Amino acid sequence: MDFWVTEYQTPALGFSCKTRETLRVEQTPFQHLAVIETEQFGRMLLLDGMVMTTDKDEYVYHEMITNIALNSHPSPKQVLIIGGGDGGALREVVRHPLVEKGTLVEIDEKVIIAARDFFPDLACSFLDPKALVVVDDGIDYVKQHLNTFDIILIDSTEPVGPAVELFSQNFYQSCFDALKEDGMLVVQSESPFYNADVIKMAYGGIKQVFPLTKLYLASIPTYPSGLWSFTVGSKKHDPEQVKNVNKYNLKYYTQEVHRAAFGLPQFVKNIIEQDE
Ligand code: SAM
Repeated sequence: MDFWVTEYQTPALGFSCKTRETLRVEQTPFQHLAVIETEQFGRMLLLDGMVMTTDKDEYVYHEMITNIALNSHPSPKQVLIIGGGDGGALREVVRHPLVEKGTLVEIDEKVIIAARDFFPDLACSFLDPKALVVVDDGIDYVKQHLNTFDIILIDSTEPVGPAVELFSQNFYQSCFDALKEDGMLVVQSESPFYNADVIKMAYGGIKQVFPLTKLYLASIPTYPSGLWSFTVGSKKHDPEQVKNVNKYNLKYYTQEVHRAAFGLPQFVKNIIEQDE
C-alpha cells in the first residue's frame, strides 16, 4: 500500500509526494513540524503542512535568496537572516568570500534541531566560524540592531503564525533602520500564480520604505506552482547590477541567471505595477 503526503497549496489543489518513511512529527511551540523521506525529492521538511525544503531542490531557493544581494552589494560583510532555521540560506551566506559574519535569527529552535538531525548539508552552516545562530523573534531582533547590517534576508514561512508581522510595512521600516546607509533587504514573497496578494503586500510595503524596489523570480519544483518570487528593497545599489562574481560554481545561480531573474512575465508586472 503506497503512502502519499499531500501539501494543500490552495484549498483546491494538492501537491502529493510518495513517501517512504516518516522521520519526525511534532507540535513545536510555534508550528507543526514534520520530516519525511520522499521518493522524488529525498528528505522533506514541512511546517504546518507546507513544504519548506527538500534534499533535491533546496539549492535553487537558497542560492537565489542570497546571491542576488550578495553579488550586487559592493561590500556584503554583515548579513542577517530572519527565519531560515534549516540552515540553507546561512550556508550560502557564510561561503561567500566577502561576508564576514552571517547571523541567523530563527524563532523555533525545533527547526534548527530537525535540520541538525536530518539535513546535514544545510545544518553544516551552523558550525561555520562566520556564523552566529540566535533563537529569537526576528521582529524584536531587528529593532535591537540599528544601522548594523549590509544585507537582511527574510527567509520566513508564509504569512501565518509568527511570520504574519514579517510581511508588514512596520517590519520593513524596522529592517530599513537595521540596515546600513547602503543596505539591501530581500524577502521571499511567494508564488505569482497563487499568492498575488502576498506579492502586492510585500512589494507595496517595501516600496513605501525603500527608494528602490524590484522583484525577481526562480523556478522551484516543490513550491506552489513551481514559480517563486523574491522582493528586494535597496537603499542605494541596483540589485540587477552584478558587482561580485562567484569564484565557485553553484547549481542554479549564474551571472546570467542573476540578470534574467528580473525579467518578469506580463502577468507578474501587472501584479506589482498596480502599486506603481
Ligand atoms: N524557504 C521556506 C519558505 O520559503 O517557506 C522558509 C524556510 S524556513 C524553515 C522558515 C522559518 O521562518 C521557520 O523555521 C519559522 O520558524 C521561521 N520564522 C517564522 N516567523 C519568524 C519570526 N518572527 N522570527 C524568526 N523566525 C521566524
